[in-house]
Amino acid sequence: ASARKPLMAGNWKMNNNHLEAIALVQKLAFGLKEADYDAVDIAVLPPFTDLRSVQTLVDADKLDLAYGAQDVSQHASGAYTGEVSAAMLAKLGCSYVTVGHSERREYHHEDDALVNAKARAALGAEITPIVCVGERLEVREAGEHIAHCVAQVDGALQKITAEQAAGLVIAYEPVWAIGTGKTASAQDAQEVCAAIRARVGELYDGDTAARIRILYGGSVKGANIAGIMAQPDVDGALVGGASLDPGEFVKICRYRD
Ligand code: PEP
Repeated sequence: ASARKPLMAGNWKMNNNHLEAIALVQKLAFGLKEADYDAVDIAVLPPFTDLRSVQTLVDADKLDLAYGAQDVSQHASGAYTGEVSAAMLAKLGCSYVTVGHSERREYHHEDDALVNAKARAALGAEITPIVCVGERLEVREAGEHIAHCVAQVDGALQKITAEQAAGLVIAYEPVWAIGTGKTASAQDAQEVCAAIRARVGELYDGDTAARIRILYGGSVKGANIAGIMAQPDVDGALVGGASLDPGEFVKICRYRD
C-alpha cells in the first residue's frame, strides 16, 4: 500500500462571498470528524475575498481543515494591479494553491511557462501548488492525451527540485470532464495518473515518483469517488461543483464507507 495520504480539495471557483464561505465551512466542520482528517487531507479553495474569513473560522475552532487559493501571481510584489502574491497567501495561512487550472489556461491564456513560474512562486512561500493538467476532448479523441498531459507536467516542473516535486500535488483534470457531468472512467483516470507518475520518475527518481500526490478531477461526486480512489495511482480528488454542497463533499471525503 502506498504511504501517500489522500487529498480531497474543493475548488469553489467563483462561488460564495465571505459570509456564504463561513456558512459552508461551518457545515463542513460539523460534518467532518477527526477520523476523516486522520484518513484524508481535506482542503477548500475559496475565492481570494473569502480567505481571511475562512482563516478566522479555522483558527478559532482549531479545525484540521486546510485551505488555499485558486491562483497566485508569479511575481513577488510590485506594480501588478489585481494580482495576489504567494507571500500574501502564506500570511493568510494558505496551505495550497491551484495553478494552471484549465479555466485559467483557457480564459486567461496561461501557458506552461507561466504555470511553472506560479508553481515556483508558491513553493518559494512554502505553499503547496496543485498543478492542474488535462486534455481537451479533441486531444483525447486523437489518442494524444498521455503525451499532452506529460508535456504539461514537463513544462510545469521546470527548475523545481526533487525535494520540492515530492511535496507537490498534480491534478489530472480532463477538460471534457470538468463541470460536464461526464466523469473519466476510473481506468482512464488511472492510465493518465500512472503515466504522470512514471514521468516524474524519469524527470527525478523513483522516490520522488512514489511520494508525489496525483489527484483526479472532473465531475467527481459521492457516487463515483470510490471507484476512482480504488486506482493505485490516484491519490485524491480536485472537486469543483460537488464541493459547494457540504453533504456531498463530506461523502467524497468518506469514500471508504
Ligand atoms: C474543477 O474545476 O477543478 C472540477 C473538477 O470541476 P467539477 O468537479 O465541477 O467538474
